[in-house]
Amino acid sequence: MLSSFTLAALDLVFPALCPVCEATLGPGRRDPLCGACWGAITRLGAPTCDVCGAATPTIATVAEPPRRVAPTCATCMTSPPHYDYARSAALYEGGLRDALHAFKFAGRRALAGPLGDLAAEQCVASLPDGIDALIPVPLARERERERGFNQATLLARRIGRRLGVPTRPSWLARIRSTRPQSDLSAAERRTNVRGAFRASERVAGRHLLLVDDILTTGATLDACARALSAAGARRVGVLTVARVVHAAV
Ligand SMILES: [Zn+2]
Ligand SMILES: [Zn+2]
Repeated sequence: MLSSFTLAALDLVFPALCPVCEATLGPGRRDPLCGACWGAITRLGAPTCDVCGAATPTIATVAEPPRRVAPTCATCMTSPPHYDYARSAALYEGGLRDALHAFKFAGRRALAGPLGDLAAEQCVASLPDGIDALIPVPLARERERERGFNQATLLARRIGRRLGVPTRPSWLARIRSTRPQSDLSAAERRTNVRGAFRASERVAGRHLLLVDDILTTGATLDACARALSAAGARRVGVLTVARVVHAAV
């Protein structure tokens, strides 16, 4: 570990740059984005579908209105995911996409701070009460060794501190390696991760919040939620920093 004195000296020689636009950050600031890039992130408002958390142009009628805060969209009515609700802080685009890339692939692990805070601040009001633990989506062991960290664990720890909820990475494990989801179609993604996770028996009866950096098709999060439910979890939610918004159907 570098001392704060060494970091301060490094700041003078190599001033910290915004990982998105490479503007020089002020002295003493290491790693968060510059103010302009931070302000340009498209934050998501209250979810219009309680289950997938997505904004949807069509709102289906709910049979028993008092059970849900928001109505359920047509997709979740016909093929509901294995998680009970999902929330994301912002759109996966522009500066936020660059920031997440810098965080994951360029080892800028201090970005877990501002990115975790973004998720916590943006979603805290719409998360249900009574969450027992945060569960980071496990990385393949080889990938975690290569990268030196699991971005979901760093985010979960930061978010957990803000929400006052413990993080339990050991409660969910990857039991086989999978191909990177980014190379695959939506249908292939589901097959690729099916049965890839196993939950600890400690999840039984608990309300758990899965944490990851991005929700793309939701296939990985769905497979994780399925494993947690199979081990007896009472309720499973999802929280991600960013969300890919698919073209309206
Ligand atoms: Zn910037
Ligand atoms: Zn939905």
